[in-house]
Amino acid sequence: MTGSTLRIMWLYPDHMNIYADRGNIILLERRCEWRGIGFELGTAGPGEPVDPDAHDLFYMGGGQDRDQALVARDLVEGKRDALAAALDSGASMLAVCGGYQLLGHSYAMGDESLPGLGLVDLRTVREPGERLIGNVVIDADLGEGPRRLAGFENHGGRTYLGEAETPLGRVLKGHGNNGKDGFEGVHKGNVIGTYLHGPLLPKNVWLADRLIELALGIELDPLPGDSLEEAAHMSARRAAGVA
Ligand code: GLN
Repeated sequence: MTGSTLRIMWLYPDHMNIYADRGNIILLERRCEWRGIGFELGTAGPGEPVDPDAHDLFYMGGGQDRDQALVARDLVEGKRDALAAALDSGASMLAVCGGYQLLGHSYAMGDESLPGLGLVDLRTVREPGERLIGNVVIDADLGEGPRRLAGFENHGGRTYLGEAETPLGRVLKGHGNNGKDGFEGVHKGNVIGTYLHGPLLPKNVWLADRLIELALGIELDPLPGDSLEEAAHMSARRAAGVA
């Protein structure tokens, strides 16, 4: 595998990084390193440009409403075209929670409505009711049959997918997109959006590898030690009653 390099662009690392979303980046770095795949990390905050040709994987983590409000306009006005061009040429994207919400058309919070990238047909609204908080297990399907993902969610926004969009998976435990329709996340081509923090990738290393594969167009074998990881996952699932 030596020779390839995973080039990541982490959008708004200072604003969109709650629940240790940075752990997702560290995990990707380690799994590349262990395989002899190079790793380059770029970041872009407010006002900083994005080169559509310089990255294989775009990442945006979660954020509080206040932080999302700080970045939403910059994202849409300053970075949308570059992101759309990069995705069109085969780059991948992982967006978690607040980042996931900003993939869609808008995030309506009472009197205020934040614009979104509109890269996926989804809308997020604050509705009366409790925040959706707790551990989540879903059956995720990236087109190769269902696989389990475990994580943690904490969101006030409820997300509704357009009819033509495909959720990332079905909720086995937890609330998912809106606490009503039983779906979690979205999966559109090389774009994955999800409410799962955790951090997501250290809890679900198979998804980390899938992202590397999608971003680089390669196939990976599991790493030594992944069977231990899987065994720990299984026992956590049994404890949650969803093995
Ligand atoms: N601020 C958003 C919400 O509460 C996203 C939260 C998050 O990223 N955990 O819905």
